[in-house]
Amino acid sequence: MNRYMKRFWGDTKNILSGNIKITNRLKFTAIIFSVTIVHLFLTTIFGCLRIAPLFFFNIFSVMTYVFCFSLVRKDLFLPVYYITYLEIILHSLISTLCLGWQYGFAQYIIAIIPVGYYICYNMNIKRHKLLIATGSAFTAVFVFLSCKMLSFYWHPLYMLDGQFWEFFLYIFNSICSFLFLIVFSLVFVFEIKLTNTQLKQQNALLEQLASTDPLTGLYNRRSMDVFLSQAMESSSSFTLVMCDIDDFKKVNDTYGHEFGDVVLKGIAKIVTTQVKEHGYVCRWGGEEILILINNASLESAYRIAENIRRNVANKVFECHSKWVRCSMTLGVAVHNKKDTVEETITQADYNLYRGKRNGKNTVIL
Ligand code: GH3
Ligand code: MG
Ligand code: MG
Repeated sequence: MNRYMKRFWGDTKNILSGNIKITNRLKFTAIIFSVTIVHLFLTTIFGCLRIAPLFFFNIFSVMTYVFCFSLVRKDLFLPVYYITYLEIILHSLISTLCLGWQYGFAQYIIAIIPVGYYICYNMNIKRHKLLIATGSAFTAVFVFLSCKMLSFYWHPLYMLDGQFWEFFLYIFNSICSFLFLIVFSLVFVFEIKLTNTQLKQQNALLEQLASTDPLTGLYNRRSMDVFLSQAMESSSSFTLVMCDIDDFKKVNDTYGHEFGDVVLKGIAKIVTTQVKEHGYVCRWGGEEILILINNASLESAYRIAENIRRNVANKVFECHSKWVRCSMTLGVAVHNKKDTVEETITQADYNLYRGKRNGKNTVIL
């Protein structure tokens, strides 16, 4: 199996396994492959029926599509699009002239219009996609109507005996055209679903990037502003805890900034674990963390704050085989209904400041 076939087979397996990315290469290969099969079949039939123009035209078509395979390998999709469109239109026209309208060859012209739009829109061309598809569609409509009008005045070049071939070819052409339409409609719906899923995933990722701090994974200040507004609007009480790592500058100066980051991340993890679903934790700035605890009495908020303080003080942080212990000071303030949120933050900040002055590694109410 050559490299190209391997890639084609790989794409197909991805689709079958639900790991979906229908590439242009796969789409074009599928189209060319199916039209080549149809033409090979028609070549055989026209050979048996000794209809020379159609026999040779179909051989020419098969050779053209073999050439198209090499264009697809080079990702030259636009020429393949034009060649396929032109070939299908010409084939329908010539077949109608040779055999007559009632054999149903003109149905292919109807089928390629929506497929043409779909393929064109998905091609990697920057401009004029709709123009190209609409131009192709109008050409197809023109040829379709010409076939019909010609069939009124033009006597077919070949008259086949009996009704069998007319019936057989009409059914064959109908099945091929409808299959073409159904398969591409399915692929179209499938791709819309895929695009929607990808958009949702990207939105969730963007939402996460916009609302969290990249180093610690905690909510950022913007998110906390939203949570604080929600807490203010709700009728239930809340408590704020302002935390600041003690002598953090020293950690940075002694062990380096990288170690400082490790400590910050470790402390963020401890705080999140302790707060759990009781509220929100945000990186307020530098090495300051603000906690919003919902529906908490002063005692339960104190318990959470004290657990955080104790866990931080007991933790040994490690980076590149160096170990360090840290501590944290926390200021707790219960929101008073008549205060603004800024006043409660100032109160928590003031308690933190008192804790720092009282020797750090403490919780102040
Ligand atoms: P105090 O006990 O009074 O709080 O002393 P401190 O040394 O912690 O003083 P302060 O809170 O003013 O120090 C903040 C330091 O935090 C200064 C800055 O270098 C460091 N810092 C802020 N953000 C980061 C960060 O993202 N990574 C690291 N490694 N350090 C940070
Ligand atoms: Mg600080
Ligand atoms: Mg500090």
